[in-house]
Amino acid sequence: MAAALSLSACRGHVGGVPGPAPLTPPPVATAPLRISVAYPKEAQRVTAGDTLFIYTSPTERIQSRDSAFVFGSVGQGDARLTVNGTPVPVYATGAWIAWLPLPADTLARFDLVAVTAADTARASLVAYLPPRFRPPMGANVWVDTTSFSPAGGRWVRPGEEIRLSVRAASGSSARILLPGGRVLPLVPDTSADEVPWGQIAFGTTIDPVRMPERPERYVGRWTGAFGPDPGPAMSPLSVAPEDSGWAFVEVAFGADTVRQRWPLRVGVIDPARLQMVVVNDDTAHTGKTDSSLAGRPSPDGTYHWFFPNGTLAAVSGRWNGQARLQLSRGTVAWVDAVDIQPLSPEVSAATGIASSPRLVPGDRSVTLRVPLTARVPFRVEETDRALALRFYGVAADMDFVRYGGTDPLVRTISFSQPVEDEAMVTVELTQPVWGYRTSWSGTTLVLEVRRPPVIDPTRPLAGRKIALDPGHPPAGATGPNGNYEAPVVLAIARRAKAMLDALGAQTTLIRDTDAPMDLVERLRIAERADADILISIHANALPDGVNPFVNSGTSVYYYQPRSEPLARALNRAIVKQFGLRDLGVGRGDLAMARPTWMPSALTEGLFIMIPEQEALLTSPAGQERYARGVVDGIVEFLRGRAGTTP
Ligand SMILES: [Zn+2]
Repeated sequence: MAAALSLSACRGHVGGVPGPAPLTPPPVATAPLRISVAYPKEAQRVTAGDTLFIYTSPTERIQSRDSAFVFGSVGQGDARLTVNGTPVPVYATGAWIAWLPLPADTLARFDLVAVTAADTARASLVAYLPPRFRPPMGANVWVDTTSFSPAGGRWVRPGEEIRLSVRAASGSSARILLPGGRVLPLVPDTSADEVPWGQIAFGTTIDPVRMPERPERYVGRWTGAFGPDPGPAMSPLSVAPEDSGWAFVEVAFGADTVRQRWPLRVGVIDPARLQMVVVNDDTAHTGKTDSSLAGRPSPDGTYHWFFPNGTLAAVSGRWNGQARLQLSRGTVAWVDAVDIQPLSPEVSAATGIASSPRLVPGDRSVTLRVPLTARVPFRVEETDRALALRFYGVAADMDFVRYGGTDPLVRTISFSQPVEDEAMVTVELTQPVWGYRTSWSGTTLVLEVRRPPVIDPTRPLAGRKIALDPGHPPAGATGPNGNYEAPVVLAIARRAKAMLDALGAQTTLIRDTDAPMDLVERLRIAERADADILISIHANALPDGVNPFVNSGTSVYYYQPRSEPLARALNRAIVKQFGLRDLGVGRGDLAMARPTWMPSALTEGLFIMIPEQEALLTSPAGQERYARGVVDGIVEFLRGRAGTTP
């Protein structure tokens, strides 16, 4: 909650890190006094009588229920500002940010008054909040019709259990009425209340999680079909008439009863006849045939697999837009259902490793070829000095095999079968992993392992190819004074390129104009440049509902394990430049942090939504420092890897 967040507030500089001298603050802005709101974004300004109303768009609601940040500008750096009577600091640039409690309503109104010695400006900000269910006035019993979970279409295996949950008046009795007179009683949910996600995201939860005194959630467990038959698992949900076997929830309190249809249809899949599908995320026909589809261990989990187009798998479940692939008996992956296509029933999954893996040495890489009988799902598991290929649904009769190294980079290649229908080929290296990539050649899986660059510890950047990615457009964050992230990070990247090239690097700017560029294209440019390192440069913003005064500062994200030292070096160097709060490094499921061919990291050096940090990001001196931090971080990482190459 908001109160819990502000308890841990500590503003100011990080101790113990000797940084460059503080920058001189920006000059005091002297534009005409004018209240503007940058977030939530203004949609309309309307004057009624002597009041100026600033409306945000009803389609862009603040996604928070208790507190939210609002920021903007008053034009003058020496103005005083209040929001609903509470003073809000105005920075020298005229920018301000406020952290405000939200009403229990779908509309929030904030009265803003800005005052200077000569002038006063007033505005009422009207912002939209998420729609919420309101029990009918005076009713003893009610059902929150927005709270049915799950809802929609779902397909399960026989015997698979579903947890049903609905919000209704506390102290009632609740049950589900099914066709044929069957009844499933529901019980009040006494499990812990949910912690708002903003607190989880930054680890700021300090209150013990409280249980609601009178639970308003009712839960039950169900196995088998539910509601009207939803049809085949990989087909669009068919239309079900009113009288086609829907289930109803009935909530009773004393003599009062309400009944609502449960908007859920569950179908049961025949496990002996699973639908085979092929991964093809090129439904837009862009011709990008080398892309891959991300898979998660649970519908809302993080990415764990990347299935190249053409991969075959069987579907064992679906929940609305997500399909569950049965990779092996014990492993499933959830993917977006639109990115897989059903195959004819004759296609079966039976596959195996056809023959022994083969190692092919090359100048810049060494390639392992693993012949299979079909494009089966696989995953690359990376450790410090090894890459393991795990193949799913593969029944092989191969004994444990170990090959000696025939290349200075490869120590051994081994084969194993951790479970009956999964097989692993492990390449142990003589040095830490620098990069790799996988592709299909027919039904042979090709793993290309990159040879690490030879680094001169006295001139670590000499001859290094660096790719710098200025984040956005499209999308991106905006600061209180209306400064947009994309041009700011481009200016920083240009400065960093100049510094890197002066130290002997060949730097590629992935974007050098204001034109939007998609993430796949950015990764392709870095790969085509054969970059040794990729850095994506950003300015941060928070999601709705997170207190910016507690959660702003410097952070860096990585995804692949071998990129963690790079992320740490960058974070240390940028923290040293600005001396702001160190939010640390995080493992981020971000496209620009995920490439496998080179170590990569994404820097969130400063928060553009914080007035002081927006001023740093837009000033030449601040941009120079951010660039210096990026360069120092790269140098530190390269020095750490010098001397590992024979
Ligand atoms: Zn960004």
